[in-house]
Amino acid sequence: MILVTGGSGLVGKHLQDILPDAKYISSKDFDLTDINQVHFMMHNYRPNTVIHLAARVGGIADNIKYPVDYLEENVLMNTNILKKCHEFDVEKVVAILSTCIYPDKVDTYPMKEEDLFNGPPTPTNFSYGFAKRCMAAHIDSYVEQYNKKWSYLIPCNLYGEHDKYEEHHSHFVSALIKKIYEADDSMELWGTGKPLRQFMYGGDLARIIAYFIDNDIVGNYNVAPDWVHSIDEIANIAKKACNKENLAVYYDDTKPDGQFRKDVDSSKLLSVLENFKFTTLEEGIEKVYDNFSKRYNK
Ligand code: NAP
Repeated sequence: MILVTGGSGLVGKHLQDILPDAKYISSKDFDLTDINQVHFMMHNYRPNTVIHLAARVGGIADNIKYPVDYLEENVLMNTNILKKCHEFDVEKVVAILSTCIYPDKVDTYPMKEEDLFNGPPTPTNFSYGFAKRCMAAHIDSYVEQYNKKWSYLIPCNLYGEHDKYEEHHSHFVSALIKKIYEADDSMELWGTGKPLRQFMYGGDLARIIAYFIDNDIVGNYNVAPDWVHSIDEIANIAKKACNKENLAVYYDDTKPDGQFRKDVDSSKLLSVLENFKFTTLEEGIEKVYDNFSKRYNK
């Protein structure tokens, strides 16, 4: 039996299309920061596989405003889940980190898996970064001490139909899609437009997680398409994909840019996946924009 935490989130909903028979858990079912509830959940379902997606996830502003909450909630959830997976003898665990947790700056880009601890995370998501790094160390320790077949994936920023569009919560591409939809002739974006980013369609990550489970792949892997664009280039790709090429873009450079770049190398991942093709940014944005327009009109 496969149990998926964070089943109601962006990635969880994409995974529901691919692994329909798994059990999907949200915070309404169990609060994973409470170890007694995690114990009860494991006792109830007795999974042999756990896909751990649940996390407190949010945009830059929210991370800056609530660093304690990001640290405590994520550390508690991850610790409780891993401890109980051990106690209940869960054979396979696939947990999700993020490229946001990589060092703020390194000498050589794109970053490889071994760069993870080569410097502190960026100040704008310092607490989230350390909480997720702690989970990496925790899983590595279980592998080392108990020989577990547990893995973690380190995906780049995501977007998808199931992202949240509230101001404090949304990620860049989803916020951008909403802005493009609502704009008549211009829109304003945070920062300078210069930072470099990789973005992945949420359905691609779900396909990769399912592939790991189906094919018993173990280890730690970056997950990102091999292109990297500036925020300004992404805005232009999105305008085109949404058929609003004439929209003017203004940058509010009094607002933070966040980390300048955090692009990662996925060659280790591609060596274990067969013929995997990432959804292009153009295709993905077109799909999400179409879905957003239909929902928004309702
Ligand atoms: P999301 O849409 O924000 O969903 C978060 C999920 O976690 C929801 O199902 C939520 O349940 C659950 N959750 C939060 N607090 C919980 C608690 N105390 N107890 C139980 N469940 C709780 O997140 P996502 O974008 O799907 O992200 C999935 C994973 O990918 C996360 O680990 C995230 O760090 C990682 N990731 C995300 C991105 C990205 O750009 N989105 C990029 C890289 C990595 P409710 O719906 O009930 O609140």
